[in-house]
Amino acid sequence: HAKVNGRRQSCFYDQTMSRDLVRRREIEAELRSAIVKNELSIFFQPIIDLDTGRIKTFEALVRWFHPEKGELKPDEFIPVAEETGVIVTLGNWITAQAAKAAAQWPEDVTIAVNLSPLQIKAPGAALGIMNALREAGLDPSRLELEVTESLFLDDHGATEHFIEELSAIGVRFALDDFGTGYSSLGYIQKYPFSKIKVDRSFVSGPNVGKKTDAIIHAVAELGSKLEMDIVAEGLETIDQVRTVRDAGCTLGQGYYFSRAVPDYLAAMLLSQEEDTRIRATG
Ligand code: C2E
Ligand code: MG
Ligand code: MG
Ligand code: MG
Repeated sequence: HAKVNGRRQSCFYDQTMSRDLVRRREIEAELRSAIVKNELSIFFQPIIDLDTGRIKTFEALVRWFHPEKGELKPDEFIPVAEETGVIVTLGNWITAQAAKAAAQWPEDVTIAVNLSPLQIKAPGAALGIMNALREAGLDPSRLELEVTESLFLDDHGATEHFIEELSAIGVRFALDDFGTGYSSLGYIQKYPFSKIKVDRSFVSGPNVGKKTDAIIHAVAELGSKLEMDIVAEGLETIDQVRTVRDAGCTLGQGYYFSRAVPDYLAAMLLSQEEDTRIRATG
């Protein structure tokens, strides 16, 4: 019996594994042409100033609307893009689209774009970003690049150079998913981050409690001393918003405020704010 069961189980296992593998191969094969076929699009999720309740930034999040597979999330195809090297082309396209959208928004609203380590280490990476900014006519200070700590694992000069070169023209950097990786205060000391994004596992879910609360307080304190914005990711309830605001986080992002939306809806969210924006600035 045990043998039969064992064999059945391993057979089932092989089937799921090969199904995953087939899907991966398909994604790999189709990703290159997806851009040309217009199947990819950039969605925008607002990041809110927790003092004023207004939109400070939109984070660009890529989506793939596959004709047969439906909506694919970046967690499924970005890793494939990284492995195959397509991430460089894809990343340049994403930055260009995001910069174009941002150029239509009020000047005090910034755009945040996620960058993969591989993208940053590719030759001409900084130039690709500069080209996207120039073509869109977007001031570099309105672009923020989100990187994760994994970028610094195999530091080979290219990263430092990339960050230096773009910081020099006014591009800003945010440390994404803080607390999930190899969180080292050394990175915060070494690189000119203007923002730290506290991972959503500290904000909602099973791990949230006294300890995560203390950590958020400590990071917020660090942010205020170093004049960095601290963003709480993954805010889904008003209680979570209050907790992180009371802890000292300056910005918030999450489904409580809005999911990532297409460009026309992002523009609509901004125009709904326009009255107060004009009153506040003029
Ligand atoms: P991330 O940069 O940390 O982006 C935040 C992710 O959390 C997004 O998932 C967003 O939809 C999700 N999120 C936001 N608020 C909430 C919330 O309240 N609750 C929950 N449960 N989730 C929330 P998404 O769009 O699926 O992206 C996943 C990851 O894929 C991103 O994590 C980022 O690392 C990567 N990614 C997305 N777009 C790009 C891109 O254009 N280029 C690169 N290189 N990576 C990207
Ligand atoms: Mg991000
Ligand atoms: Mg994040
Ligand atoms: Mg993430």
